[in-house]
Amino acid sequence: MNDAFGRPLRNLRLSVTDRCNLRCEYCMPEDDYVWLPREDVLHFEETSALVDVFLSLGVDKIRLTGGEPLLRRDVPSLVRMIAAKPGLNDLALTTNGVLLAAQVDALKAAGLGRITVSLDTLHPDRFIKLTRFDQLEAVHAGIAAAHRAFGHLKIDTVVIRGVNDDELVPLIEYGRSVNGEIRFIEYMDVGGASRWSPDRVVSRKDMLDALARHYGVIAPIDEPGSSAPAERFALEDGTTFGIIASTTAPFCSTCDRSRLTADGMWYLCLYATRGLDLRAPLRAGASSAELKALIAGGWRARDDRGAEDRLALGDQRAFVPVQDLLRKDPHLEMHTRGG
Ligand code: SAM
Repeated sequence: MNDAFGRPLRNLRLSVTDRCNLRCEYCMPEDDYVWLPREDVLHFEETSALVDVFLSLGVDKIRLTGGEPLLRRDVPSLVRMIAAKPGLNDLALTTNGVLLAAQVDALKAAGLGRITVSLDTLHPDRFIKLTRFDQLEAVHAGIAAAHRAFGHLKIDTVVIRGVNDDELVPLIEYGRSVNGEIRFIEYMDVGGASRWSPDRVVSRKDMLDALARHYGVIAPIDEPGSSAPAERFALEDGTTFGIIASTTAPFCSTCDRSRLTADGMWYLCLYATRGLDLRAPLRAGASSAELKALIAGGWRARDDRGAEDRLALGDQRAFVPVQDLLRKDPHLEMHTRGG
């Protein structure tokens, strides 16, 4: 099933909570937040029922996210419910890693396929400054546990000028030591990133220049037909890494992602200010066929190109003017959308 620009519905990011145990300055820099009402948060059975509908419409990749997904009680049981469903080719989880060491075996046993851990710095003092919590050791333990249980992982790093842009090489070397492919993400002006400014963005070009100064030749890896947000590159020794250039080179034209928040709002673009409420019809007893028609209609009408629209704004802020709105509607926040 394709949207108005011919993009298929394939990738679903499933946020299981809007709560987080870190306060990363590029995502949750404020002192307090408006949280989703607990009674609105979908039960796993409700999430599972919606997943069935999405799978019947062509979704074949699901990523569990948050907030911090591992803060939600018993995520492995949700993984178990979803992993066995027919039609699903890829079940992944994105986590900050703090609670991962204790849960990784249960996640693996439940059928989780892949893990991505977010890690922006290897310096303990910087980690505390960036996240407001002294948890770097716990993240390292989580990454080591993921390496042991899964054999490999991905590590996502948001690169911010003057904060961690001197760590590109150390992070690649660290990734090598844990069989983790690093993916450098350009700092995005998304809901919640209230400290974003254009001069803090390190572009893909700047990253590649810095890495080439250290490693020499860097070869792009050709992946025809891929809708993955990361472009991948290889160093001469075969080490690979990715760059997600969502800010300077948006991938809207191939974007097949949509996002379901923990309370059942469905967003068709990371930048969308309006979503489709699936919780209300679900709780009102809508049949699978009715939910299918609702979701299909939403996707067919999809014409968002949020990151491109954002790029066209240039140095103007996309989300600052709606800071008051962010306070009133937590759905606009990155930590509610799931990144
Ligand atoms: N807590 C989990 C984690 O840390 O991975 C999942 C949720 S987090 C919102 C998902 C991803 O969004 C993380 O990799 C985070 O770095 C990324 N992210 C958040 N704010 C961002 C921003 N302003 N620019 C780019 N990436 C951002």
